[in-house]
Amino acid sequence: MKEKIIYFDHAATTPIKKEVLEEMIPYLTEQYGNPSTIYKLGREAKKAIELARERVAKALNADIEEIYFTSGGTESDNWALKGTALANRDKGRHIITTTIEHHAVLNPLKYLEKIGFEVPVEPNGIVDPNKIKEAIREDTILISVMLANNEIGTIQPIKEIAKIAKEREIIIHTDAVQAVGQIPINVKDLGIDLLSLSAHKFYGPKGVGALYIRKGTRIHPFLQGGAQERNKRAGTENVAGIVGLGKAIEIANKNLNEYASKLQKLRDKLIDGVLSKIDYVRLNGDRYQRLPNNANFSFEFVEGESLLLLLDTKGIAASSGSACTSGSLEPSHVLLAIGLEPEVAHGSLRITLGEDNTEEDIDYLLEVLPEIVSKLREMSPLYESVKKEGNKDV
Ligand code: PLP
Repeated sequence: MKEKIIYFDHAATTPIKKEVLEEMIPYLTEQYGNPSTIYKLGREAKKAIELARERVAKALNADIEEIYFTSGGTESDNWALKGTALANRDKGRHIITTTIEHHAVLNPLKYLEKIGFEVPVEPNGIVDPNKIKEAIREDTILISVMLANNEIGTIQPIKEIAKIAKEREIIIHTDAVQAVGQIPINVKDLGIDLLSLSAHKFYGPKGVGALYIRKGTRIHPFLQGGAQERNKRAGTENVAGIVGLGKAIEIANKNLNEYASKLQKLRDKLIDGVLSKIDYVRLNGDRYQRLPNNANFSFEFVEGESLLLLLDTKGIAASSGSACTSGSLEPSHVLLAIGLEPEVAHGSLRITLGEDNTEEDIDYLLEVLPEIVSKLREMSPLYESVKKEGNKDV
Protein backbone atom coordinates (compact mmCIF):
# COMPACT_ATOMS: atom_id res chain seq x y z
CA MET A 1 0.00 0.00 0.00
CA LYS A 2 1.24 3.51 -0.82
CA GLU A 3 2.29 5.38 2.29
CA LYS A 4 0.08 8.41 2.95
CA ILE A 5 1.88 11.71 2.70
CA ILE A 6 0.42 14.86 4.10
CA TYR A 7 1.56 17.46 1.61
CA PHE A 8 2.02 20.95 3.04
CA ASP A 9 4.30 22.41 0.38
CA HIS A 10 1.94 23.83 -2.24
CA ALA A 11 4.04 26.98 -2.64
CA ALA A 12 6.82 24.74 -3.98
CA THR A 13 4.53 23.02 -6.45
CA THR A 14 1.07 21.47 -6.79
CA PRO A 15 -0.07 18.20 -8.38
CA ILE A 16 -1.71 18.42 -11.82
CA LYS A 17 -5.46 18.22 -11.60
CA LYS A 18 -7.12 15.29 -13.38
CA GLU A 19 -9.26 17.50 -15.65
CA VAL A 20 -6.14 19.47 -16.59
CA LEU A 21 -4.17 16.36 -17.49
CA GLU A 22 -7.09 15.00 -19.51
CA GLU A 23 -7.12 18.13 -21.68
CA MET A 24 -3.35 17.93 -22.14
CA ILE A 25 -3.01 14.29 -23.18
CA PRO A 26 -4.30 14.59 -26.77
CA TYR A 27 -1.64 17.24 -27.45
CA LEU A 28 1.06 14.86 -26.30
CA THR A 29 -0.32 12.03 -28.43
CA GLU A 30 -2.58 12.17 -31.50
CA GLN A 31 -2.78 15.99 -31.74
CA TYR A 32 0.98 16.37 -32.06
CA GLY A 33 1.03 18.98 -34.82
CA ASN A 34 3.39 21.94 -34.81
CA PRO A 35 1.23 25.04 -34.35
CA SER A 36 3.24 26.94 -36.97
CA THR A 37 2.22 24.55 -39.77
CA ILE A 38 -0.75 25.21 -42.01
CA TYR A 39 -2.38 21.79 -42.33
CA LYS A 40 -5.19 20.64 -40.05
CA LEU A 41 -2.98 18.95 -37.43
CA GLY A 42 -1.03 22.17 -36.98
CA ARG A 43 -4.10 24.38 -37.07
CA GLU A 44 -5.71 22.30 -34.31
CA ALA A 45 -2.66 22.81 -32.10
CA LYS A 46 -2.72 26.53 -32.82
CA LYS A 47 -6.41 26.66 -31.94
CA ALA A 48 -5.70 24.97 -28.61
CA ILE A 49 -3.05 27.58 -27.80
CA GLU A 50 -5.42 30.40 -28.64
CA LEU A 51 -8.13 28.93 -26.41
CA ALA A 52 -5.60 28.79 -23.56
CA ARG A 53 -4.63 32.41 -24.24
CA GLU A 54 -8.29 33.39 -24.03
CA ARG A 55 -8.69 31.57 -20.73
CA VAL A 56 -5.63 33.24 -19.20
CA ALA A 57 -6.75 36.65 -20.44
CA LYS A 58 -10.22 36.12 -18.96
CA ALA A 59 -8.82 35.04 -15.59
CA LEU A 60 -6.69 38.20 -15.36
CA ASN A 61 -9.12 40.59 -17.07
CA ALA A 62 -6.50 41.21 -19.74
CA ASP A 63 -6.92 41.45 -23.49
CA ILE A 64 -6.13 38.25 -25.37
CA GLU A 65 -3.22 39.84 -27.28
CA GLU A 66 -1.60 40.84 -23.99
CA ILE A 67 -0.81 37.24 -22.96
CA TYR A 68 2.47 35.58 -23.99
CA PHE A 69 3.41 32.02 -23.07
CA THR A 70 6.79 31.22 -21.54
CA SER A 71 8.57 28.31 -19.88
CA GLY A 72 7.48 29.38 -16.39
CA GLY A 73 7.78 32.01 -13.70
CA THR A 74 11.55 32.32 -13.96
CA GLU A 75 11.45 33.06 -17.67
CA SER A 76 8.55 35.50 -17.30
CA ASP A 77 10.46 37.43 -14.61
CA ASN A 78 13.69 37.40 -16.64
CA TRP A 79 11.84 38.62 -19.72
CA ALA A 80 10.01 41.37 -17.83
CA LEU A 81 13.21 42.74 -16.31
CA LYS A 82 15.76 42.29 -19.08
CA GLY A 83 13.29 43.08 -21.86
CA THR A 84 12.31 46.35 -20.19
CA ALA A 85 15.89 47.30 -19.31
CA LEU A 86 16.98 46.80 -22.90
CA ALA A 87 14.04 48.58 -24.52
CA ASN A 88 14.23 51.60 -22.21
CA ARG A 89 17.95 52.04 -21.80
CA ASP A 90 17.78 55.40 -23.58
CA LYS A 91 15.50 56.63 -20.77
CA GLY A 92 17.55 55.36 -17.86
CA ARG A 93 19.01 52.36 -16.07
CA HIS A 94 17.56 52.50 -12.61
CA ILE A 95 15.24 49.71 -11.47
CA ILE A 96 13.46 49.54 -8.11
CA THR A 97 12.54 46.30 -6.38
CA THR A 98 12.21 45.00 -2.80
CA THR A 99 14.45 42.94 -0.55
CA ILE A 100 12.00 40.02 -0.45
CA GLU A 101 11.63 39.21 -4.15
CA HIS A 102 12.17 35.69 -5.46
CA HIS A 103 15.64 34.94 -6.87
CA ALA A 104 14.00 34.85 -10.32
CA VAL A 105 13.80 38.65 -9.93
CA LEU A 106 16.82 39.41 -7.75
CA ASN A 107 19.34 37.45 -9.80
CA PRO A 108 18.44 38.90 -13.23
CA LEU A 109 18.75 42.33 -11.61
CA LYS A 110 22.20 41.40 -10.29
CA TYR A 111 23.06 40.23 -13.80
CA LEU A 112 21.96 43.59 -15.18
CA GLU A 113 24.49 45.03 -12.72
CA LYS A 114 24.23 47.94 -10.38
CA ILE A 115 21.05 49.33 -11.83
CA GLY A 116 18.82 47.78 -9.21
CA PHE A 117 17.74 49.37 -5.95
CA GLU A 118 16.17 47.21 -3.26
CA VAL A 119 13.62 48.91 -1.00
CA PRO A 120 13.47 47.25 2.45
CA VAL A 121 10.14 45.90 3.64
CA GLU A 122 8.54 46.61 7.02
CA PRO A 123 8.89 44.02 9.83
CA ASN A 124 5.51 42.54 8.85
CA GLY A 125 6.89 41.72 5.39
CA ILE A 126 4.95 44.40 3.51
CA VAL A 127 6.57 47.20 1.56
CA ASP A 128 5.59 50.78 2.30
CA PRO A 129 4.60 52.42 -1.03
CA ASN A 130 6.05 55.73 0.25
CA LYS A 131 9.47 54.12 0.42
CA ILE A 132 9.11 53.09 -3.22
CA LYS A 133 8.16 56.67 -4.03
CA GLU A 134 11.24 57.99 -2.22
CA ALA A 135 13.49 55.61 -4.16
CA ILE A 136 12.37 56.92 -7.56
CA ARG A 137 15.01 58.84 -9.53
CA GLU A 138 14.97 60.70 -12.83
CA ASP A 139 16.41 57.63 -14.54
CA THR A 140 14.09 55.02 -12.97
CA ILE A 141 12.59 52.94 -15.77
CA LEU A 142 11.01 50.01 -13.91
CA ILE A 143 9.52 49.06 -10.55
CA SER A 144 9.20 45.33 -9.83
CA VAL A 145 7.32 44.27 -6.70
CA MET A 146 5.86 40.82 -6.14
CA LEU A 147 2.13 40.46 -5.59
CA ALA A 148 2.57 37.80 -2.91
CA ASN A 149 5.70 36.48 -1.27
CA ASN A 150 6.59 32.83 -1.70
CA GLU A 151 7.98 32.34 1.81
CA ILE A 152 5.91 34.41 4.19
CA GLY A 153 2.83 34.84 1.98
CA THR A 154 2.52 38.60 2.46
CA ILE A 155 0.38 40.40 -0.11
CA GLN A 156 1.87 43.67 -1.35
CA PRO A 157 -0.06 46.90 -2.05
CA ILE A 158 0.52 46.69 -5.80
CA LYS A 159 -2.37 48.93 -6.79
CA GLU A 160 -0.94 51.79 -4.74
CA ILE A 161 2.57 51.17 -6.03
CA ALA A 162 1.31 51.05 -9.63
CA LYS A 163 -0.38 54.41 -9.12
CA ILE A 164 2.92 55.91 -7.96
CA ALA A 165 4.71 54.35 -10.95
CA LYS A 166 2.14 55.66 -13.43
CA GLU A 167 2.35 59.22 -12.09
CA ARG A 168 6.03 59.13 -13.10
CA GLU A 169 5.52 57.10 -16.28
CA ILE A 170 7.57 54.22 -14.91
CA ILE A 171 6.87 50.65 -16.02
CA ILE A 172 5.51 48.43 -13.27
CA HIS A 173 5.99 44.65 -13.11
CA THR A 174 4.58 42.24 -10.56
CA ASP A 175 5.62 38.65 -9.94
CA ALA A 176 2.25 37.01 -9.30
CA VAL A 177 3.56 33.43 -9.37
CA GLN A 178 2.31 32.74 -5.83
CA ALA A 179 -0.80 34.87 -6.07
CA VAL A 180 -2.58 33.37 -9.10
CA GLY A 181 -5.19 30.86 -7.96
CA GLN A 182 -5.07 32.22 -4.39
CA ILE A 183 -6.42 35.76 -4.63
CA PRO A 184 -8.44 37.56 -7.32
CA ILE A 185 -6.28 39.32 -9.90
CA ASN A 186 -7.47 42.01 -12.27
CA VAL A 187 -4.61 43.57 -14.21
CA LYS A 188 -6.65 46.58 -15.30
CA ASP A 189 -7.76 47.33 -11.77
CA LEU A 190 -4.23 46.85 -10.42
CA GLY A 191 -2.93 49.23 -13.09
CA ILE A 192 0.18 47.20 -13.88
CA ASP A 193 2.13 46.77 -17.13
CA LEU A 194 3.68 43.34 -16.67
CA LEU A 195 2.68 40.26 -14.64
CA SER A 196 4.40 36.88 -14.33
CA LEU A 197 2.64 33.61 -13.59
CA SER A 198 3.50 29.91 -13.54
CA ALA A 199 1.14 26.96 -14.10
CA HIS A 200 2.62 24.51 -11.60
CA LYS A 201 1.62 26.71 -8.67
CA PHE A 202 -2.10 26.32 -9.43
CA TYR A 203 -2.49 22.61 -10.29
CA GLY A 204 -1.14 22.92 -13.82
CA PRO A 205 2.00 21.42 -15.36
CA LYS A 206 5.60 22.43 -14.62
CA GLY A 207 7.72 24.27 -17.18
CA VAL A 208 5.03 26.56 -18.54
CA GLY A 209 4.00 30.08 -17.60
CA ALA A 210 2.89 33.37 -19.03
CA LEU A 211 3.79 37.01 -19.08
CA TYR A 212 1.07 39.63 -19.30
CA ILE A 213 2.33 42.61 -21.27
CA ARG A 214 -0.01 45.58 -21.31
CA LYS A 215 -0.48 46.95 -24.83
CA GLY A 216 1.99 49.73 -25.53
CA THR A 217 4.59 48.62 -22.98
CA ARG A 218 8.13 49.11 -24.24
CA ILE A 219 9.77 45.69 -23.98
CA HIS A 220 12.17 43.71 -26.14
CA PRO A 221 11.49 40.11 -27.21
CA PHE A 222 13.16 37.59 -24.91
CA LEU A 223 14.17 34.80 -27.27
CA GLN A 224 15.08 35.41 -30.90
CA GLY A 225 14.32 32.82 -33.53
CA GLY A 226 11.04 31.98 -35.22
CA ALA A 227 7.96 34.17 -35.29
CA GLN A 228 6.06 32.42 -32.49
CA GLU A 229 4.15 34.48 -29.91
CA ARG A 230 3.88 37.36 -32.38
CA ASN A 231 7.65 37.64 -32.75
CA LYS A 232 8.15 38.22 -29.04
CA ARG A 233 9.06 34.75 -27.74
CA ALA A 234 10.57 32.39 -30.30
CA GLY A 235 10.55 28.61 -30.08
CA THR A 236 8.03 25.88 -30.87
CA GLU A 237 5.32 26.18 -28.28
CA ASN A 238 4.86 23.72 -25.41
CA VAL A 239 1.37 22.98 -26.70
CA ALA A 240 0.28 20.46 -24.06
CA GLY A 241 1.74 22.62 -21.30
CA ILE A 242 -0.03 25.71 -22.56
CA VAL A 243 -3.31 23.79 -22.82
CA GLY A 244 -2.81 22.62 -19.22
CA LEU A 245 -2.08 26.16 -18.06
CA GLY A 246 -5.25 27.45 -19.69
CA LYS A 247 -7.42 24.77 -18.15
CA ALA A 248 -5.80 25.11 -14.71
CA ILE A 249 -6.26 28.88 -14.53
CA GLU A 250 -9.86 28.57 -15.65
CA ILE A 251 -10.63 26.08 -12.87
CA ALA A 252 -8.64 28.04 -10.28
CA ASN A 253 -10.53 31.21 -11.07
CA LYS A 254 -13.91 29.53 -10.94
CA ASN A 255 -13.21 27.99 -7.51
CA LEU A 256 -11.28 30.92 -6.07
CA ASN A 257 -13.68 32.03 -3.32
CA GLU A 258 -14.49 28.56 -2.08
CA TYR A 259 -10.81 27.52 -2.18
CA ALA A 260 -9.59 30.63 -0.39
CA SER A 261 -12.17 30.50 2.38
CA LYS A 262 -11.54 26.80 3.03
CA LEU A 263 -7.77 27.26 3.20
CA GLN A 264 -7.97 30.41 5.24
CA LYS A 265 -9.93 28.56 7.93
CA LEU A 266 -7.36 25.77 8.02
CA ARG A 267 -4.50 28.29 8.04
CA ASP A 268 -6.00 30.20 10.97
CA LYS A 269 -6.57 27.01 12.93
CA LEU A 270 -2.94 26.10 12.32
CA ILE A 271 -1.59 29.51 13.29
CA ASP A 272 -3.68 29.71 16.46
CA GLY A 273 -2.76 26.14 17.37
CA VAL A 274 0.98 26.58 16.89
CA LEU A 275 1.13 29.91 18.72
CA SER A 276 -0.81 28.54 21.68
CA LYS A 277 0.83 25.11 21.96
CA ILE A 278 4.50 26.04 21.48
CA ASP A 279 6.56 28.74 23.17
CA TYR A 280 9.49 30.73 21.74
CA VAL A 281 7.75 30.80 18.38
CA ARG A 282 6.84 33.65 16.02
CA LEU A 283 4.63 33.91 12.98
CA ASN A 284 6.51 35.46 10.07
CA GLY A 285 4.67 37.91 7.85
CA ASP A 286 1.57 39.95 8.51
CA ARG A 287 -1.13 38.07 10.43
CA TYR A 288 -3.91 39.06 8.00
CA GLN A 289 -2.49 40.50 4.78
CA ARG A 290 -1.19 37.12 3.64
CA LEU A 291 -2.12 34.36 1.23
CA PRO A 292 -4.94 32.12 2.44
CA ASN A 293 -2.72 29.04 2.25
CA ASN A 294 0.47 30.31 3.91
CA ALA A 295 1.77 29.99 7.47
CA ASN A 296 5.43 30.57 8.27
CA PHE A 297 6.86 30.13 11.77
CA SER A 298 10.26 30.49 13.40
CA PHE A 299 11.01 28.33 16.40
CA GLU A 300 13.88 29.44 18.57
CA PHE A 301 16.48 26.83 19.58
CA VAL A 302 15.48 24.61 16.68
CA GLU A 303 17.27 23.85 13.44
CA GLY A 304 14.86 24.00 10.47
CA GLU A 305 16.41 21.18 8.46
CA SER A 306 16.17 18.77 11.43
CA LEU A 307 12.57 19.83 11.92
CA LEU A 308 11.80 18.98 8.29
CA LEU A 309 13.48 15.59 8.55
CA LEU A 310 11.54 14.66 11.68
CA LEU A 311 8.30 15.82 10.08
CA ASP A 312 9.20 13.70 7.08
CA THR A 313 9.47 10.62 9.32
CA LYS A 314 5.85 11.35 10.33
CA GLY A 315 4.77 11.51 6.68
CA ILE A 316 4.60 15.31 6.50
CA ALA A 317 6.14 17.23 3.61
CA ALA A 318 6.86 20.91 4.35
CA SER A 319 9.55 23.47 3.71
CA SER A 320 11.99 25.45 5.82
CA GLY A 321 12.42 28.34 3.42
CA SER A 322 11.70 28.59 -0.28
CA ALA A 323 12.14 25.34 -2.19
CA CYS A 324 15.03 26.86 -4.08
CA THR A 325 17.00 27.77 -0.98
CA SER A 326 16.37 24.69 1.14
CA GLY A 327 19.43 22.50 0.85
CA SER A 328 21.69 25.50 1.25
CA LEU A 329 22.81 26.58 4.69
CA GLU A 330 22.27 30.25 3.97
CA PRO A 331 19.37 31.63 6.00
CA SER A 332 16.50 32.86 3.85
CA HIS A 333 17.00 36.41 2.52
CA VAL A 334 13.29 37.05 3.08
CA LEU A 335 13.43 36.17 6.77
CA LEU A 336 16.57 38.27 7.24
CA ALA A 337 14.85 41.14 5.40
CA ILE A 338 12.00 41.19 7.94
CA GLY A 339 14.56 41.49 10.72
CA LEU A 340 15.09 37.95 11.98
CA GLU A 341 18.46 37.02 13.47
CA PRO A 342 20.15 34.34 11.32
CA GLU A 343 19.85 31.73 14.14
CA VAL A 344 16.12 32.34 14.42
CA ALA A 345 15.68 32.33 10.63
CA HIS A 346 17.36 28.91 10.60
CA GLY A 347 14.57 27.51 12.76
CA SER A 348 11.79 28.29 10.32
CA LEU A 349 8.98 26.22 8.92
CA ARG A 350 6.77 27.09 5.96
CA ILE A 351 3.43 25.32 5.70
CA THR A 352 1.54 25.99 2.47
CA LEU A 353 -1.88 24.38 2.20
CA GLY A 354 -3.72 23.03 -0.80
CA GLU A 355 -7.15 21.85 -1.77
CA ASP A 356 -6.67 18.27 -0.55
CA ASN A 357 -5.67 19.30 2.97
CA THR A 358 -8.24 18.68 5.67
CA GLU A 359 -8.87 19.63 9.27
CA GLU A 360 -7.56 16.21 10.26
CA ASP A 361 -4.26 17.05 8.56
CA ILE A 362 -4.00 20.20 10.68
CA ASP A 363 -4.92 18.27 13.84
CA TYR A 364 -2.22 15.73 13.05
CA LEU A 365 0.39 18.44 12.50
CA LEU A 366 -0.63 20.14 15.74
CA GLU A 367 -0.19 16.83 17.50
CA VAL A 368 3.26 15.93 16.17
CA LEU A 369 4.86 19.38 15.83
CA PRO A 370 5.04 20.27 19.57
CA GLU A 371 6.63 16.86 20.28
CA ILE A 372 9.21 17.32 17.54
CA VAL A 373 10.06 20.87 18.61
CA SER A 374 10.53 19.71 22.25
CA LYS A 375 12.69 16.83 21.17
CA LEU A 376 14.96 19.12 19.13
CA ARG A 377 15.13 21.68 21.92
CA GLU A 378 16.25 18.98 24.36
CA MET A 379 19.39 18.80 22.25
CA SER A 380 19.99 22.55 22.44
CA PRO A 381 22.34 23.65 25.22
CA LEU A 382 21.11 27.23 24.81
CA TYR A 383 17.51 26.20 25.40
CA GLU A 384 18.55 24.26 28.51
CA SER A 385 20.19 27.32 30.03
CA VAL A 386 17.24 29.55 29.13
CA LYS A 387 14.86 27.08 30.74
CA LYS A 388 16.91 27.03 33.94
CA GLU A 389 16.98 30.80 34.15
CA GLY A 390 13.32 31.01 33.24
CA ASN A 391 14.08 33.87 30.89
CA LYS A 392 11.41 34.12 28.23
CA ASP A 393 12.88 37.17 26.51
CA VAL A 394 15.86 35.70 24.67
N1 PLP B 1 8.52 33.77 -8.51
C1 PLP B 1 8.02 33.28 -7.36
C2 PLP B 1 7.41 34.21 -6.37
C3 PLP B 1 8.06 31.91 -7.10
O1 PLP B 1 7.57 31.43 -5.97
C4 PLP B 1 8.66 31.05 -8.06
C5 PLP B 1 8.79 29.60 -7.81
O2 PLP B 1 8.81 29.15 -6.69
C6 PLP B 1 9.15 31.61 -9.25
C7 PLP B 1 9.05 32.97 -9.45
C8 PLP B 1 9.74 30.76 -10.32
O3 PLP B 1 8.73 30.07 -11.02
P1 PLP B 1 9.06 28.76 -11.89
O4 PLP B 1 9.27 27.66 -10.91
O5 PLP B 1 7.85 28.54 -12.72
O6 PLP B 1 10.25 29.07 -12.71
